[in-house]
Amino acid sequence: MTTAPAEPPVSADSWELLLQPLELGPITLRNRVMMGSMHTGLEDRAYHVDRLAAYFGERARGGVGLIVTGGYAPNRRGTLLPAGAKLTNRFEARRHRRITDAVHAHGAHILLQILHAGRYAYHPYSVSASSIKAPINPFRPWKLTDRGIRRHIEHYARCARLAREGGYDGVEVMGGEGYLINQFLAPRTNRRKDRWGGSTENRQRFPLEIVRAIRREVGSDFVIAFRLSILELVEDGQTVEEAIALAQRLEDAGVTLINTDIGWHEARVPTIVTSVPRAAFVDATERVADKVSIPVAASNRINMPQTAEAILRNGKVALISMARPLLADPEWVNKTGQNRADEINTCVACNQACLDHAFVHKTVSCLVNPRAGHETDLILLPTRRSRRIAVVGAGPAGLAAATALAERGHAVTLFEAGADIGGQFAIARRIPGKEEFAETIRYFRRRIEITGVDLRLNTRADADMLAEFNRVIIATGVRPRVPHIEGIDHPKVVTYDRAVLGDIEIGRSVAVIGAGGIGHDVSEFLTTEHSPTLDLEAWKREWGVTDDTHVRGSVVPPQPEPSPREVYLLQRSPGRMGGRLGRTTGWVHRAALSAKGVERISGVEYVRIDDDGLHIRVGDDLMIRRVLPVDTVILCAGQESVRELYDELAARGVPVEIIGGADVAAEIDAKRAIDQGTRLAASL
Ligand code: NAP
Ligand code: SF4
Repeated sequence: MTTAPAEPPVSADSWELLLQPLELGPITLRNRVMMGSMHTGLEDRAYHVDRLAAYFGERARGGVGLIVTGGYAPNRRGTLLPAGAKLTNRFEARRHRRITDAVHAHGAHILLQILHAGRYAYHPYSVSASSIKAPINPFRPWKLTDRGIRRHIEHYARCARLAREGGYDGVEVMGGEGYLINQFLAPRTNRRKDRWGGSTENRQRFPLEIVRAIRREVGSDFVIAFRLSILELVEDGQTVEEAIALAQRLEDAGVTLINTDIGWHEARVPTIVTSVPRAAFVDATERVADKVSIPVAASNRINMPQTAEAILRNGKVALISMARPLLADPEWVNKTGQNRADEINTCVACNQACLDHAFVHKTVSCLVNPRAGHETDLILLPTRRSRRIAVVGAGPAGLAAATALAERGHAVTLFEAGADIGGQFAIARRIPGKEEFAETIRYFRRRIEITGVDLRLNTRADADMLAEFNRVIIATGVRPRVPHIEGIDHPKVVTYDRAVLGDIEIGRSVAVIGAGGIGHDVSEFLTTEHSPTLDLEAWKREWGVTDDTHVRGSVVPPQPEPSPREVYLLQRSPGRMGGRLGRTTGWVHRAALSAKGVERISGVEYVRIDDDGLHIRVGDDLMIRRVLPVDTVILCAGQESVRELYDELAARGVPVEIIGGADVAAEIDAKRAIDQGTRLAASL
């Protein structure tokens, strides 16, 4: 078993391979960076085509070699949603010219992804290999007939021809993530007894016929990429051996590029969240690359150039596919090429503004870059009147506002009472699996230097100091809420910030009061001795991922490392915990805590804290009394805004704005804080 590539130091000559051109059938890519497909939500509406063109155009201008669009269905049955994105006629194809022209104008190439959702389609006329309902979709698909399958193959070919008419350099056929083609490939979803099911060869017939039909339709001078599922991470999925055999057959059928894909949407192994180690799946990609002669791209949790370069240096993988890192920073490639990698705004794999938006049908954006998906409406123009602006508080909101204002040409002073910047990010980065947040702090630290923000650390700004500025922005954040519980002053009680930042000793038995995002994070902090994010082998054991290429779906029973502590996670509300956590990340947190044996108790009334522990009442009508014999009680009961300075300045008539948690503490999150800070900066 190999581990994630070691990260070489950032240096001027480190990106030699990443920046090398690559011949890809009829086209030559200017470098080895490919923007992988991500559905933005803009694809679904014709009137968003110019926003989509601006979004892709900005990434092309940022230097990426190849772009793949979000998925377009080859027919109505294949759309993800009713009336979702499809490419089925010339009228639609003509519209795509605006996108392809925007990308070609900046020297990049672009493929259209053909995605048939199969049983993941969220409508009642979905189809699949067999009529087996997906666990994540209420609609049972119709089983395709032999004639229906042949018509579908024609539709894929028609879609590719239309993509060509729309100016694309090729298509990517989505064959992974549990979508239609994958449903034919895996015994999990293909129970057919005809020529399209049963043996491996029969299950692979559908994608091979699709590729052959596309090649016949478009000729030889058109790229056909295939998104190949190599680790399915579901029971009864394909084996890696089958995926390798398919890759070889796809090459023979006329595929130009294999882009590898990890995990079905219904998989219960995380594949892209921040706790997945960087480059976790590259060894599987390399196994495929070893057996074919066409280029193979690696994907999933590759977000910085040193990781990408190290993968290419192994000499097997030809391209690095990234989607979210290019949402976070459209200039990722140019910054790398100009030896400015330390200026990259790194994707922290939080999913909060991208995939979590996609799942609730909101336009995709990015937590660390609110301009993503808003290129036409959130523009940081140089100011015509430079003013002296004070920003108070160097958490996410204050950092975003201060650096964006300075970039626009204002003279900005940033006051921070603490010894360093970061605010809530400085806490988040200490949570096992959230180490990536250190990159965001690095990014803002560098941006402060570049934009010339005057940073005053260890400086508690007061109203008199601020009176000399033309404008003041208060971003003083939040303080943890201390609930009214008898014994709350007991020495065993601490707030979450002190517990995580490490200035107190935490006992072997702990009660966590409050089960929101922070209560879950703190529980992971308490139950994890060694962060599996930093140790690929440990992470695979934790989630039950095997390297045995003959095991179906590559999943085995998980073997989590035992928790060093006994932890109780509590909330007053009845019912399921963590319902407000991110759609794509909440289940990962809940599963991790279950694996660590955290006892979760809902519908609690807190009675008292004393030397014996935490006294609670639970059950119907709160009739059951329990004493949790804990050494430490950690308060994660939400926050309150720190806004005294704002109130004082406003009372004095000073022009002052308030943003982030200082503005609204309830459900404060970094996404809203950075967005609010950036939008305010754009408007001043
Ligand atoms: P939160 O999500 O609002 O949760 C606060 C928790 O405290 C709730 O469980 C609430 O449950 C409890 N609580 C509230 N008032 C209380 C009181 N007076 N006494 C006792 N318990 C009380 O806030 P948070 O956990 O501090 O998170 C802040 C924000 O950061 C949220 O928007 C969250 O989504 C985000 N965040 C997300 C993640 C993640 O997704 N992994 C991680 C960190 C932060 P009851 O009222 O039922 O007791
Ligand atoms: Fe990455 Fe989070 Fe931005 Fe998505 S929202 S691109 S995961 S930083």
